[in-house]
Amino acid sequence: MKGLNKILVSKAELQHRVKELGAEISLDYHGQELVLIGILKGGAVFMADLMREITLPIGIDYMSVSSYGNSSTSSGAIVIKKDIDTDIRGKHILIVEDMIDTGLTLQHLQKHLLTRDALSVKICTILNKPSRRLVDIKIDYEGIEIPDEFVVGYGLDYAEQYRHLPDVWIVDTLELGIH
Ligand code: 5GP
Ligand code: MG
Ligand code: MG
Repeated sequence: MKGLNKILVSKAELQHRVKELGAEISLDYHGQELVLIGILKGGAVFMADLMREITLPIGIDYMSVSSYGNSSTSSGAIVIKKDIDTDIRGKHILIVEDMIDTGLTLQHLQKHLLTRDALSVKICTILNKPSRRLVDIKIDYEGIEIPDEFVVGYGLDYAEQYRHLPDVWIVDTLELGIH
C-alpha cells in the first residue's frame, strides 16, 4: 500500500508478546475482580487478542476519549465520547491501549477513573513510544517499545485507514504528504 514500505512489528511478534502479557496479567490479578477497559478505536484489536490470553474471570468494557493536548491541564481536560456502562466501584481496572505517545490521554483517563472509586487503575499498552513522552506516567504492562516513527496497523490508523492490518507498519510521511 502507498506509503507503507516497512513492517516495524510483525504479526508473529505481536502474537508472541500478547501471549506473554496475558500470562503475566493472569498471574498478577489472580483472585481479584478485574475489568479490562479497551480504548476505542485503536485499542480494539489488541483488546480482542489480549482478553483471550487471560485465564481469569474478567469483565470487559470500552471507552472512547479525546484529550485536549496540553501537559499543564488537569484531569478536567478529558472528553469522554463513549463511556463504559460498568460500575467499576471496588474493582481493579486495566486500561488497554494501542499506543502511549505523549501520555496525556492516559494520564487524564487514569485520574478520571480513580474518581469513580475503582480499587486500582493500571495501564497496558501494546506499543510504547517513550521518546515522545510529555508527562510522567507509569505503564504497568508494556508490549513493545518503538522508536519515534508514525506507525499504522494492529488498530492504529492514518485518516481512519489501515487499522485492520495484522502487522505494524512505518508510514513514509513524505510519500503520503503528511507533515
Ligand atoms: P497520547 O499518548 O499522545 O496522549 O496519545 C496516544 C494516542 O495517539 C494513541 O492512542 C494513538 O491513537 C495516537 N498515536 C500516537 N502515536 C501514533 C502513531 O505512531 N500512529 C498512529 N496511527 N497513532 C498514534
Ligand atoms: Mg489510542
Ligand atoms: Mg488515530
